[in-house]
This record gives sequence, structure tokens and C-alpha cells, in this order.
Amino acid sequence: MDGTSRRSPWPGDHRAALCVTFDVDGPYGEKGYRDAGNTYWISQTEYDPAGVERSLRVLADLDIQATYCWVGRSAEDQPDLIERAVGEGHEIALHTWEHRYLHTMTPDEQRDDFQRTFETLSRISGTQPTGHKTGGWRYNDDTHLIAQELGLSWVMDVPRGDLPSFIRPDENRPALVNLPPSWLWDDYNWYVDQTSSPNQVANAWQDDLDMLREEGGLMSLTLHPFVTGRPGPMRGLARFLDYAVSLGDIWIARADLIAAWWRDQAGNMSEY
Ligand SMILES: [Zn+2]
Repeated sequence: MDGTSRRSPWPGDHRAALCVTFDVDGPYGEKGYRDAGNTYWISQTEYDPAGVERSLRVLADLDIQATYCWVGRSAEDQPDLIERAVGEGHEIALHTWEHRYLHTMTPDEQRDDFQRTFETLSRISGTQPTGHKTGGWRYNDDTHLIAQELGLSWVMDVPRGDLPSFIRPDENRPALVNLPPSWLWDDYNWYVDQTSSPNQVANAWQDDLDMLREEGGLMSLTLHPFVTGRPGPMRGLARFLDYAVSLGDIWIARADLIAAWWRDQAGNMSEY
């Protein structure tokens, strides 16, 4: 099938968009999921800083800017890495204070969690984050209301189709742009929940990208430094990204830029 006749929603001659995001959980994700005595898993996250460093090197080699969704406490643990990521052109976004599941929290607890994370990331990064991804994708109705209150622009939470969409729980505030994630674009599913080889993962993602390129879709990867940051998986990611670059018509961009583009396009037609 040749998709050249389809109209693409992306800028210029781009036929699809690709957003690379790393969720920097530190130990807090695994600590939330596992028994405190389960050092077998919790200790795996000690790899996080080495994984972030490797990801920065590989992305710099490919001249790709990514979005790093940083847990607030993890940001306090490794401020130098955030500064380096920002210095290399990457975006910093919210990924909760300590990876607690937001749907288990009251609205006020969620509000405090967002606020504290926002302030910490702003202070350390010297940037004003505009996006949020919920830890473990355990959000509820309050979550996106609070993201609107905080003036955020985008979330990566709801796997609704293959294009961005608008979420507007509060009709009196600007809508959020939702960039759809997928459990199939989450390295945790491939390497932790099951053991896949880097080739399997790169090949599957290549098929996703080929299909979305025919259709003009958006692919948003969710990667973890202590998972894809390891040598073989990072080599597999680099191979996939090399492929995306070689196609010559994939818009590989940070989440904030994709959200801004989507809002601009819609803004020509409505009040978004
Ligand atoms: Zn996470």
C-alpha cells in the first residue's frame, strides 16, 4: 500500500510523527510496585543514571531531541542529569512526585503532588514544564482537571487512536492535548513483563512506524533508563531510530512541539 496520496496532518512533507519519551522513575516506580524486601527488582533501578547518560549520548549522535518525564524525587536525586538533558535540547515534563498511583489519591493530594513536582522540576531544570505523564497510567477524572488548573499544555495518558486529541474536563480552561501512548510502545512491557530481544522490539516498532507512515499517525515511545538504557536494548532503540531518520519524512519531535503544532492547527478552526 502506498500512502503518498493521503493527507498528512504533520508539518511540511512529514508523513508521520515520532515522539521519544524517557520516564525517569529512579527507584520510586519499582518501590511502589514491589515488596520492600524485593531488592532483586528494586535494585535494578540503580542503573537509572547510567541509562540516562547512555540515552543522552545516543540521542546526541542521532541529533534527536526527546522528552524526559521526570519523577520529582528522582530529579532531586540527580539534578546534574536534568541540567545536562536541558542543555542538550531535551524537554522536561512531569511524571508525579514519587510515582504514587494518582487514582488512589484525593483531588487535593493530587494537586499537591502536581504542584510540588512542577516547582521542583522548574527550579532544577530552569525551564517551565508544559506536560505530564501519569505514573503507571493510573489517572482518574481529577488528574486532567488538575493538569488544566496548573496551565499544562499536554498529557500522554489516554491511548485513544493514533493521533493527538483534546481533553477538556473544565470547559472554562484551555484544552489539554493528549498524545496517545500504548502498552506496545512501552519498553517495560517488552523487557520486564516479558523477556524480549532488542531485535524483536526494534522490528515490532518498525512495523508500527511503517503502518502509521501510511496513515499519517503519531507514535509515542515510553522508555525507561533502567530498561532501554541498558546496552543491548539501547542498541536496538538506536537501530529503530536510525531507521526512522533514514525514511526522511518522519517528524521526530519533543512532546511540547507536537502538542503546540496540534493546537495551532485546531486553533485555526476553533477556540482551542
Ligand atoms: Zn514511570
